[in-house]
Amino acid sequence: MLKFGGSSLRTGGSMRQVAGIIMAEREKKAVVLSAVTGVTEMLVQFISRTRSEEDVDAFMREITKLHVDLARDALRTESARAKAVEELVAKLVKLERMLYGSCYIEEVNPRIRDYVQCFGERLSVIILSALLNELGERARPVDADELGIITDGLYGAATVNMEATRASIRPKLLRMLQEDTTPVITGFFGRAPEGSVTVFGRNGSDYSAAAVANAMGASSLEIWKDVDGFMSVDPKIVPSAKPIPRLSYDEAAELAYFGAKVVHPMTMEPARSGNIEIRVKNVFRPEAPGTAIGGADNVDQSIKSISCMKDLSLVKVFGEGTGYKLGVLADVASLLRRAEINIYSVVTSLTCIALLIDRRDVAKAQKVLAESGASRVETHTGFALMCIVGEGLGHHKGLASRVFKAVAKEGVNVGLISAGASLVAYHFTVDEADLERATRAVHEELFGC
Ligand code: ASP
Ligand code: MG
Repeated sequence: MLKFGGSSLRTGGSMRQVAGIIMAEREKKAVVLSAVTGVTEMLVQFISRTRSEEDVDAFMREITKLHVDLARDALRTESARAKAVEELVAKLVKLERMLYGSCYIEEVNPRIRDYVQCFGERLSVIILSALLNELGERARPVDADELGIITDGLYGAATVNMEATRASIRPKLLRMLQEDTTPVITGFFGRAPEGSVTVFGRNGSDYSAAAVANAMGASSLEIWKDVDGFMSVDPKIVPSAKPIPRLSYDEAAELAYFGAKVVHPMTMEPARSGNIEIRVKNVFRPEAPGTAIGGADNVDQSIKSISCMKDLSLVKVFGEGTGYKLGVLADVASLLRRAEINIYSVVTSLTCIALLIDRRDVAKAQKVLAESGASRVETHTGFALMCIVGEGLGHHKGLASRVFKAVAKEGVNVGLISAGASLVAYHFTVDEADLERATRAVHEELFGC
């Protein structure tokens, strides 16, 4: 199984690089693809509100041109170009109809939003399949909903139903492989049992790839990106950051969840249950070893990485006796859940529950928490989170004191601290303005550079 991200589909040249990697793999394989870089963002922005007919026309011209130009750049023969453009246009008609539909009924709802967002993938698979065919490899574009990647139906953040998916996609993919055809499958979405398209959330194609690999009983999954894999820290903050050769599933999941945007955090679930080794590799430096993510063999007791997350806010819910009243935390959590607000961390005391959420959710949180019966709700913005990850964490005596001493030496104040929830990670907040300084100090303390 191979998966390629949008940044490697930017130009005809980078697409040929991707095709070269696919063709170098002599065994039977399936490919999962993201949208061409920037295309999902275009779709998400466009469908964020209702639009006029003129808006739709202009948008369709733009998205059509982008893909037709890319197909022309990637493909060499006129006949291959004409065929690819014909297929692209046929697909784009469906998008256009939905956009007009939404414009006429003057409505954008979650169902329409998910349906529209996934067109980037439906288009990219057409171009790459055409390129593979032109280069002499039999390949076919496959849309995940037609193939039968079945989800739980939650718009915007769906989860794969593995059993239903396995039953529907395995026979079809096996047949294609027997016919020596490489399926090039759309990432990012599947279909609900009743048929509607549901996406897995931004960057969800990695998760699609792991689900397909699981359904096929694959032993490995290569995820090709435009970086060398996971690093000991964001190299933009610490240029001497070291590549990480191996991670356990838990370490990779915690790092991905807390800010290292290398793979989608949910990717590790189907990989773990199918005992699939993930290799994160760089399309533009295929000789670099990348990061291997796997089970027991990849567990070693050392600190692996520091990940960072910005744009967080702290919400403090005050109430008398919050600490011993039953159900207060449950009430607060369910109010936030109803408003679709994700909680990154929570710490409670006798009079207060402190929650860490995305900055963009603050206004919504304030509104719903007004119903919580709290005596006061305070919000503080401008926080960043630092997360220290490593299987060895629970066994390293004195590690926390080393980390906090390094931060204190920089004169940086630590806010909310959370440890013990995961055996492989703990995190704390600092003021956003202090993040880079604190990160450099902790990296120096733990990795000596
Ligand atoms: N194209 C989708 C996104 O940009 C999914 C992905 O790239 O994995 O979020
Ligand atoms: Mg992407």
